[in-house]
Amino acid sequence: MAFEGLSERLQETIQKIKGKGKVTEQDVKAMMREVRFALIEADVNLKVVKEFVKNVSERAVGSDVMKSLTPGQQVIKIVQDELTNLMGGEQSPIQFNNKPPTVIMMVGLQGAGKTTTTGKLANLIRKKYNRKPLLVAADVYRPAAIQQLETLGKQLSIPVFSMGTEVSPVEIARKAIDQAKEEHNDVVIIDTAGRLHIDEELMQELKDIRAIKEPDEIFLVVDAMTGQDAVNVANNFNEALGITGVVLTKLDGDTRGGAALSIRSVTEKPIKFIGMGEKMDALEPFHPERMASRILGMGDMLSLIEKAQAQVDEDKAKELEEKFKTQSFTFDDFIEQLQQVKKMGPLDEILKMIPGVNKMKGIENVQVDDKQMGHLEAIIYSMTKEEKTNPDIINSSRKKRISKGSGRPIQEVNRLLKQFEDMKKMMKQMTGMSAGKGKKKMKM
Ligand code: GDP
Repeated sequence: MAFEGLSERLQETIQKIKGKGKVTEQDVKAMMREVRFALIEADVNLKVVKEFVKNVSERAVGSDVMKSLTPGQQVIKIVQDELTNLMGGEQSPIQFNNKPPTVIMMVGLQGAGKTTTTGKLANLIRKKYNRKPLLVAADVYRPAAIQQLETLGKQLSIPVFSMGTEVSPVEIARKAIDQAKEEHNDVVIIDTAGRLHIDEELMQELKDIRAIKEPDEIFLVVDAMTGQDAVNVANNFNEALGITGVVLTKLDGDTRGGAALSIRSVTEKPIKFIGMGEKMDALEPFHPERMASRILGMGDMLSLIEKAQAQVDEDKAKELEEKFKTQSFTFDDFIEQLQQVKKMGPLDEILKMIPGVNKMKGIENVQVDDKQMGHLEAIIYSMTKEEKTNPDIINSSRKKRISKGSGRPIQEVNRLLKQFEDMKKMMKQMTGMSAGKGKKKMKM
């Protein structure tokens, strides 16, 4: 997973200071030395590291912190705040034009994921904002790019405007915007040409497209796996073209995270979205605060809840939340959730979003696979209706029957019952957090 090394090192470091009743300047210095190493190792830009260490140190050795009753916790809070600031503070939404069509230009080097992201973005804009996007194939140098976009359009049932490879990209973009007006497509997303390196010709072409109608957004797509190179590319594109935001792709991979932590600070442009996989729904708005929490091992319950809600419809989600709150969640609901969770993505990724879970020993070895899911289902299906609704009645003779019925050992039945109880408790806390008081409740 992305940020793994950094996350581990930072958590080790803050663990040492966490419970301290007294924190000296010396303690802060020692901690910041470790933080500095961790950031450098994660390939964070050196200037950014220096600035970060300076900011945290200044705030942490302030008299308020030192005198407080929980200085360790306060220092950690400062690290979290500054990490959030580093990544841009607030989530930065898409700027839509109130006189449609909104024009979004997608730029970036070849292989960064530009065409894929163009499709994902159209999908997200349609789903989340209920708009009617038009995709524009303006990469005329790589014929496969046009085909790729057309295939994505077909797959998503989103129209794609293309004029082949013989017409200039500027002309294509102009005609596409005209067509969007006629056909009432309120968002135009232009997939421009990529190159292996930044060159003058490419920049000129992008400037010419930009000149047709000032885009509302110019999104630079960069590959998170390329670390500092991604930061340099962002800097160059920004200086030449003036981007409005960054989409950081392949954050589902094994990136050390340097790009995510440096781009904002170096370019002063926000990361707006992150790519979390190759599928068309694997694009997420970037939330600096949630990312900081995740890096520090405090979990990311809000993203988890959103992910879960994207899978169930609104009414169902409300109903479920009510059940969590009133503790009337049953094994029937559990099995329904199990099916939904399967659709959410790799389970080890999901587990890591839960606060505390990523710190558990051996969690990296946990593999919740389909076979285990099948066992859980077998146990639940062997329960009577009454048992599923009210598991408290499951005594030892019932357990034996369930064990026999499902063909699973009795210990496994016990474990599931225990886990179900724990989960109910946790869900209750989680719903409290989603109501907006999350940050206060999130204990470390
Ligand atoms: P372009 O040359 O910039 O248009 O790049 P493409 O859109 O063709 O993407 C290059 C490769 O990266 C393709 O194999 C994509 O499936 C893959 N890709 C794009 N975004 C992501 C992402 O967020 N995660 C992962 N794992 N792969 C991605």
